[in-house]
Amino acid sequence: MRVLIAVDMEGISGVVHWDHVKPGHFEYARFREIMTEEVNAAIDGALDGGASSVVVTDGHNDGHNILIEKLHAPARLNSGSPAPLSMVEGVQQAEVVFFIGYHARANTPEAILCHTWTDQVRGAWLNDQEVGEIGLNAAVCGSFGAHVSLITGDRAAVQEAIDLLGPIEAVVVKTARGRMSAECLAVEETRTAIRHAAAHAMVRQVPPLIISAPIRLRVELTRPDQIDRALRVPSSKRVAGVAIEWTGDDMVSVYHAFRAIAGPAGS
Ligand SMILES: [Zn+2]
Repeated sequence: MRVLIAVDMEGISGVVHWDHVKPGHFEYARFREIMTEEVNAAIDGALDGGASSVVVTDGHNDGHNILIEKLHAPARLNSGSPAPLSMVEGVQQAEVVFFIGYHARANTPEAILCHTWTDQVRGAWLNDQEVGEIGLNAAVCGSFGAHVSLITGDRAAVQEAIDLLGPIEAVVVKTARGRMSAECLAVEETRTAIRHAAAHAMVRQVPPLIISAPIRLRVELTRPDQIDRALRVPSSKRVAGVAIEWTGDDMVSVYHAFRAIAGPAGS
């Protein structure tokens, strides 16, 4: 089984504030280390479970977070951006996908640093199903026949994934009491749990997420001028002051359209 480990940062153990995930802030150095160790736990678990190859994709910000000097071999690291498939680059060759350090979609209560791509996106929908990064990325994976079988993050992110994808393996690393406050497990405990869950995820049978075509993408941004700009995306149409729609036949094109509409931030 070929495994893709798609990694974000807001759902890493102990992260409760933007400063923790912001390059340049002194706190960031600690959390990229913790992030790397959670990725290593997932790599080790995938190998325990019989993975034939493991590719890790660093999906936070510009994709320059995971410390390659600490990465466990034989995993490979996709680093930097933009990559053709952004947060799930590498899924083209994968059968099983893990989401590590994920966060809930925009406007979720009791969800650490919830957002969808950037803080300017108020919401995104695929055929009327509201999705965040979990849903968008899982749908791209599904279009390649790959299924997501593990998620780690806060309780809200885990719940969002299970609601959308079914009973996948999950590790709740923290329970949010607000958008920037949570009860967090010790990193020692989460690493052990992630390794075990990753091994189990190798044999977890869950169907890939398939969005039936035509796929209608709706995105709500924050201000009308952002829609004015997003209308440069060919074939897009404004459906309200701050809402835009784009319809396509395949999920990869929809993903490209979403990234163009959401703006340059994010990998
Ligand atoms: Zn994210």
